[in-house]
Amino acid sequence: MELSQVLKQCQHLVNPYRIQNGDGFRLEQIDPGDTLDLPTDKKGAREALEQGVEMLSELQQRLYAQNKWAVLLVFQAMDAAGKDGTIKHVMSGVNPQGCQVCSFKAPSALDLDHDYLWRANQSLPERGRIGIFNRSYYEETLVVRVHPELLAKQSLPPALLGPKLWKQRFEDIRHYEQYLNRNGVVVLKFFLHLSKKEQKRRFLQRLERPEKNWKFSAADIRERGFWEDYMQAYQEMIRETATAQAPWYVVPADHKWFTRLVVAAAVIERLDALDLRYPEVSPEAKQALARAREQLLSE
Ligand code: ATP
Ligand code: MG
Repeated sequence: MELSQVLKQCQHLVNPYRIQNGDGFRLEQIDPGDTLDLPTDKKGAREALEQGVEMLSELQQRLYAQNKWAVLLVFQAMDAAGKDGTIKHVMSGVNPQGCQVCSFKAPSALDLDHDYLWRANQSLPERGRIGIFNRSYYEETLVVRVHPELLAKQSLPPALLGPKLWKQRFEDIRHYEQYLNRNGVVVLKFFLHLSKKEQKRRFLQRLERPEKNWKFSAADIRERGFWEDYMQAYQEMIRETATAQAPWYVVPADHKWFTRLVVAAAVIERLDALDLRYPEVSPEAKQALARAREQLLSE
């Protein structure tokens, strides 16, 4: 298929879910079960994803060769929304040398002795690379907000606490992402939007299928009990931090094949807009290459 045609399809997949201005955004605007009425045959979806993965691989090679931009993909979601599987499938064609995944768990004692962006900042992708944050500094406006005792552990000076803290965190994150952008780090943020009903189905599968048991954790059920609080926190996070340079993609997550297609399409579309090119070889360098070739051939 022509590149321009692939890009058109990407835009069709991504446009409904890209939030560049969060004002007034409501999570209800996007249905977790949405598939844009695409045919749901698994074979078709797999083929489309394969094509996307191939394009991504080509774009990533150019990103790497050009060595100017870095790309940061942030993934946030409730448990069992498919972060791991999406990362695995979408990045399956990418050269592992050009890609780094960082999973953010509960902060260590050392992390807690620093500001919350400290650990994230150390894990940013180098130029030419794609960095993936499986969870991220956004947990600081999600789990930490839903569970105030986590904030207490951060030993912040009491004078800095209070309701304004969340507004300030959003403001700081907006500025941080702008700073990254101005330094050549392109930020894309994905919220995999799962329904509560589908989460239940997936949890039950984890309990009922022995090969999926390892994925189950009792903590996941506990967090499910805070579902409404999380949705509130996600909605506000998107309202406050969706910007033109660092948009949120609110991706329907009840159908895994669709989630993966949308994420792949979003990354392709964004990388393509960077106009990535292999570095030009100067006439002098070309002459040097020709001389090296002659030398090898005359051995
Ligand atoms: P999976 O369960 O699919 O392996 P996961 O991302 O859920 O992946 P877990 O080890 O289960 O990994 O969970 C990581 C935990 O770390 C989550 O409960 C998350 O809320 C928590 N966490 C991440 N960042 C922070 C943070 N800044 N403060 C407190 N908790 C955090
Ligand atoms: Mg988990």
